[in-house]
Amino acid sequence: MILAAARNDTIRSLVATAPVSRDVVSRFVAGETTADAVAATRRLVDSGLAVTLDYLGEDTTDAIQAANTVDAYVELLEHLHAENLADRAEVSVKLSAVGQLLDEKLALDNAARICRAAQAAGTTVTLDMEDHTTTDSTLRVLGELRRTWPWVGAVLQAYLRRTVDDATRLATEGSRVRLCKGAYSEPETVAYPDTAEVDKSYVRCVNALLAGEGYPMFATHDPRLIRIIGERARVHGREPGGFEYQMLFGIRPEEQLRLARLGNTVRVYVPYGGEWYGYLMRRMAERPANTMFFLRAVMTR
Ligand code: FAD
Repeated sequence: MILAAARNDTIRSLVATAPVSRDVVSRFVAGETTADAVAATRRLVDSGLAVTLDYLGEDTTDAIQAANTVDAYVELLEHLHAENLADRAEVSVKLSAVGQLLDEKLALDNAARICRAAQAAGTTVTLDMEDHTTTDSTLRVLGELRRTWPWVGAVLQAYLRRTVDDATRLATEGSRVRLCKGAYSEPETVAYPDTAEVDKSYVRCVNALLAGEGYPMFATHDPRLIRIIGERARVHGREPGGFEYQMLFGIRPEEQLRLARLGNTVRVYVPYGGEWYGYLMRRMAERPANTMFFLRAVMTR
């Protein structure tokens, strides 16, 4: 039902103009334009947080649209540089938004353009991870990009059975790895169906990343996991600057500030752009837990 609504233009315009949904959307999405994204970044940075920006759009099957997405990132990076925000703000890129469904080489070339612009701006790029059918391709592209830009970040999803091995393999010097639980609906053959198993896997991956030599970026809002990450970081002798916490824009903002005030690096993932409707609807349709996730945030405002 949600996916049908996501494709229906009448419902889309009703949702887009209803005051309540505009309120909800502005809670989770920074706005539609580069200026909106830069303004949100400025506010977060001024409050002591770091930022990673995601230009919304995914599953592109059109090379021109993929090129437009690259242009949007390049424009954003130029603005971050001009506004002296690039030392606190980087970008997150979904390879499916820059052509991965069409051709891996096209996605690689497009991602390389974004990396070149990030290098010129003085910041970094992290490749978001999408559903499990893309994991190997995304890690291949990551490997290629890292030959030139070793700071390109990876994302690993704790719900995948393979991830602890990927975490161990990627935890090398200079690597940046974001660990999240995972947001897509996946078959039991590849992913743990049970949330308790996902949490256990998350902790195994926390240990693997902290034991390695890379820079771990722990993306979660889960209070229990945040506590465990802090404890494990101490055991592994990591100072606050030796790893970071990451959370989504609009989710647990007080907790973001609390962790930052303790001296931790806390990075907020900020989505922006015109494709917010599909983004929110698809996230909710993919996994019932995602609907609960957004509803919980609205209830706890
Ligand atoms: P959940 O299991 O959703 O929640 C656990 C507990 O956290 C809850 O029981 C509650 O106590 C607390 N909590 C959660 N939400 C709230 C709230 N709104 N208010 C108060 N308490 C709350 N997924 C991908 O698949 N690929 C990616 O590239 C990716 N990148 C991400 C980047 C960042 C920075 C973040 C934060 C997430 C990313 N995700 C990504 C999404 C991620 O995989 C999860 O779907 C999402 O973060 C929800 O999982 P969780 O760890 O926060 O805990």
